[in-house]
Amino acid sequence: MSRERLIVVGGNAAGLSAASQARRRNHEMEIRVYEKGPDVSYSACGLPYFVGGLVPDADTLRVHSPEFFHTEREIDVFTHHEVLEISTSRRRVSVLAPGGGTPEEVYFDRLVLATGAEPAWPEIPGTELRGVFHVNDLQSAVALKQHLSAASVSKAVIVGGGYIGLEMAEALKTESRAVTLLERSPRLFEAVDQEIVQVTERELTRNGVEVRTQASVAALAGDAQGIVRRVHSEKASFEADCVVLATGVRPRTKLMQAAGIQLGAGGAVSVNDYQETSAAAVYAAGDCVDTLNLVSGQRTYVPLGTTANKQGRVAGENAAGGRERFPGIVGTAVVKVFGLEVARTGLGSEEAREAGFRAAEALVQAPARARYLGGQDILVKLIGDRASGRLLGAQMVGPEGVAKRIDVLATALHSRLTAEQVYQLDLSYAPPFSSVWDPILIAARQLMHAVKS
Ligand code: FAD
Repeated sequence: MSRERLIVVGGNAAGLSAASQARRRNHEMEIRVYEKGPDVSYSACGLPYFVGGLVPDADTLRVHSPEFFHTEREIDVFTHHEVLEISTSRRRVSVLAPGGGTPEEVYFDRLVLATGAEPAWPEIPGTELRGVFHVNDLQSAVALKQHLSAASVSKAVIVGGGYIGLEMAEALKTESRAVTLLERSPRLFEAVDQEIVQVTERELTRNGVEVRTQASVAALAGDAQGIVRRVHSEKASFEADCVVLATGVRPRTKLMQAAGIQLGAGGAVSVNDYQETSAAAVYAAGDCVDTLNLVSGQRTYVPLGTTANKQGRVAGENAAGGRERFPGIVGTAVVKVFGLEVARTGLGSEEAREAGFRAAEALVQAPARARYLGGQDILVKLIGDRASGRLLGAQMVGPEGVAKRIDVLATALHSRLTAEQVYQLDLSYAPPFSSVWDPILIAARQLMHAVKS
């Protein structure tokens, strides 16, 4: 009797988490992973640090090789193999091997789709010019890095002020290189509220990054050699010898759409708590799927590595005969911007109102640890629900102690704590680590009053 076969499409965070967990759960199954590119199992989150020189080479970002998966986990990983089509009724995928030719039809008993996201480039002239990059995968980051070392890049323009744009601003800025960050919205980094953005923007400026908001890019222009030289926005024009497009991503769902698999929030594949799609025996995970926001109760699209790994694990477990759940997210994220940590969890003020809450806010500035030991202030914003007193979200910015404090509040959101319950938390204190009244507690006390007013 032939072995049951699991096919995984996509060989990075979600796909290989799925394959590995399926193997842990089921030692009998045949497991194949098809990856259309040359790279598998690497940290995309580390790409800005590779471009910026903190990570010495691209290989340092690789976690495991296809050989590792073959010998250690009995998983066959096929690079340069693109899945072109899925038939959910016949349980077959058609796979194009390197060198082209006729695609091979491969049967599956279970299928996990982990195709990730693709860059959402603006539809403007000039994106094909040399010197124009994105950093959504290892190959694109390697190409950018090569360009930076081969050409003398003195003026870099980043288009897009989301978290990847912010990380790239820091990665590209050097003493001899000017960096301009263009954002079409009235403010940078829409994932956090205005109070937090203001501090972040000041840090960028302090470090020599020119920030232009309401700068919608209309065209890129090149020289006679086809190398990018200018970025034209609707109102101004900027010199550039390198352009990084960090204009966001969209779920890569062409395959699923063609197969009639149902899509959900943000055009991503709609999945339930078991990472099951609308097609029988077909699971999906990572940047190609939607997920439940546990605070708003609404489906949402938040493509992040931490979620991709967890969802992949659940998809793999269930595809191999288990029954695990991925309950959802609260929207926690953190980014380093030069000397600042910027973090969020839950809903921002506007998001809370859009989700139908009557939101109240607290904003406090307090030292991350004892001032007499050099502790510096962090800015903490909490958002709460007037009706229930429940914490709805938290945002923070500061030079220290932000990244891990946000996790306390993420835990509070998972537990649906009220502002008063957060205020009563027994948090650790010693002068090198906190103030006797931790900034979280001070902010929670203020929120307790705000939700009642
Ligand atoms: P991907 O990593 O995109 O992998 C999908 C794979 O599927 C790709 O290799 C693709 O080639 C392959 N594929 C697609 N279609 C096919 C097909 N038809 N056939 C075969 N193969 C196919 N997240 C965080 O949580 N924290 C961070 O700090 C952070 N920083 C980031 C910084 C950068 C610069 C980037 C780009 C991302 C960052 N992320 C971060 C996001 C995180 O990297 C992604 O959420 C994660 O990589 C998603 O994993 P995935 O497996 O779903 O998708």
